[in-house]
Amino acid sequence: MSYILRGTAGENSDIRFFAAITTDLVEKARKIHNLSPTSSAALGRLLSAGVIMGCMLKGEEDNLTISLNGGGPIGNVMVSANSKGNIKGYVSNPQIDLPLNSKGKLDVGGAVGTNGTLNVIKDIGLKEPYVGQVPIKSGEIGDDLAYYFAISEQIPSAVDVGVLVDTDLSIKAAGSLIIQMMPDADPYLADIVTYRIKEIPPLTTLISDGKTAKDILNMLFDDMNLKILEKIDADYVCDCSKERVERALISLGKDELKKIKDQDLKDNNEKLEVCCHFCSNKYYFNRKDIERLIEES
Ligand SMILES: [Zn+2]
Repeated sequence: MSYILRGTAGENSDIRFFAAITTDLVEKARKIHNLSPTSSAALGRLLSAGVIMGCMLKGEEDNLTISLNGGGPIGNVMVSANSKGNIKGYVSNPQIDLPLNSKGKLDVGGAVGTNGTLNVIKDIGLKEPYVGQVPIKSGEIGDDLAYYFAISEQIPSAVDVGVLVDTDLSIKAAGSLIIQMMPDADPYLADIVTYRIKEIPPLTTLISDGKTAKDILNMLFDDMNLKILEKIDADYVCDCSKERVERALISLGKDELKKIKDQDLKDNNEKLEVCCHFCSNKYYFNRKDIERLIEES
């Protein structure tokens, strides 16, 4: 089961952290979307960090969407998370697979590209959602999110994300670590944290060796007043339903619906298939259904 630990460290608790183990969650996404190894790494990294960013939201009903489009062959990489540890996502081209990069790693940066922006939209119950946008730095996702936190939210943050794909293409390990400095933290602390993250083995090595999030946090902060405050279950969940798809169709407007009725549903035996981007569930609508939606729109 995937999960997140939230807590603080430092003498005055001026470091806050989230550590997520997301192997199951990313494996679920891989199966739903039939992801190639490169796509597993790209979407898996964004899911692993995104599920944490969802838990940073304060309100029960709050949710957030993160999308990257860097002009690379994978197209759009998008996730949508709530504040309760649920997340879903997709990539435009799940089958895209690139040769390993010069470091021998899955080439997420090459797949995403660097000619575009990272967008974060937070719906926190206000009239207008919060929108943050930064240029994509490397397309490797961890760096890009750290840059987003620094520029858009003005919070110095370390973001470590990793996805390890096994030889049978299943997900062997996935996880993420987000560490943030409180506004009045000693700048020296940030240096210590940066040094320690570099000093420990890669996240995916630790997770595939069976280390828990608590083990990893102990490696980083055991002498730094480590406090684990909460454990949050995390999962890949889609909340689509026939009603939601109907509302999306209604939002297309009368003219568009009439076009669908006349072009795609000439007789009652034909069906319009609408496939959910996030979970691949299929919903079907016949001519009568569309007529009803035209009435309602
Ligand atoms: Zn769905």
